[in-house]
Amino acid sequence: MILTMNYETFQNLIYLWMAIGGLVFLLLLKIPAPYGRHTTAKWGPLINNKLGWVFMEAPGMILLLYFVLTSISRQNAMSWTLISLYLFHYVNRTFIFPMRLRTRAKKMPLLIMGLAIIFNLVNGTLIGYFFARFAQYTVNELIGARFIIGAIFFIWGVYINWDYDNRLIHLRRPGETGYKIPEGGLFGYVSCPNHLGEIIEWTGFAIMCWNLAAVSFLAWTIANLLPRALSHHKWYRQHFKNYPAERKAIIPYIL
Ligand code: NDP
Repeated sequence: MILTMNYETFQNLIYLWMAIGGLVFLLLLKIPAPYGRHTTAKWGPLINNKLGWVFMEAPGMILLLYFVLTSISRQNAMSWTLISLYLFHYVNRTFIFPMRLRTRAKKMPLLIMGLAIIFNLVNGTLIGYFFARFAQYTVNELIGARFIIGAIFFIWGVYINWDYDNRLIHLRRPGETGYKIPEGGLFGYVSCPNHLGEIIEWTGFAIMCWNLAAVSFLAWTIANLLPRALSHHKWYRQHFKNYPAERKAIIPYIL
């Protein structure tokens, strides 16, 4: 592994990556990412939805593992904890989540899979490179206020994200393919609690890590999910005449 980048160059790369995230955010506000309910054939060749999820999420995990395993001597209990939490998320998203989807023969555009692979390659590299080259945590930080507050957010976010992914997946009985109005819990407030949970989760991760690579991961998560929640919300309103008027897209009472 070539570990030659100095911190300033690394930081500048992250700023550049975050600026690209800003542009993607603006683009996604105009054009909903064409997967799930927004899939259309006009975006070119398609791939099986579940396979697409596995291929697009795997690089985020593989890259982090590569960097961490080639720099094992640098890690301590604090950095291993952060690395494990990141991997915990990715094991679910790459292998468990796609197997649980009730999307039958549904497909997604290869283009979307390719773009998501790039997103995960870069994020996995930035976070992995950070741990391999620059992380200087002390074990005592595990009992510090910042870690504990971040961990609370992370666990809270994971709980919401898993719970509401689960509720959405189970809106369909086995074999069904259509959409229903989700009800109950946070659905009383927002259309996409799963997306809200994921943003809370990565906010917690950024607080625990307290470094720019994790902040850029959070920024990209917001750039992806905030417009997606707005698109879903608009889609619900267009497709269900009786959609609850008071419900917001992603932030209760606000947005
Ligand atoms: P969605 O909420 O669009 O869909 C989740 C699952 O539930 C899909 O299988 C979907 O089917 C099904 N579903 C959703 N709404 C309904 C409904 N009203 N009736 C019946 N079935 C429904 O989630 P996303 O695809 O946007 O994201 C999946 C996960 O990935 C989320 O946890 C999200 O937070 C995460 N994610 C994270 C990103 C990041 O940048 N960190 C980026 C993108 C996603 P179908 O696919 O057929 O629509």
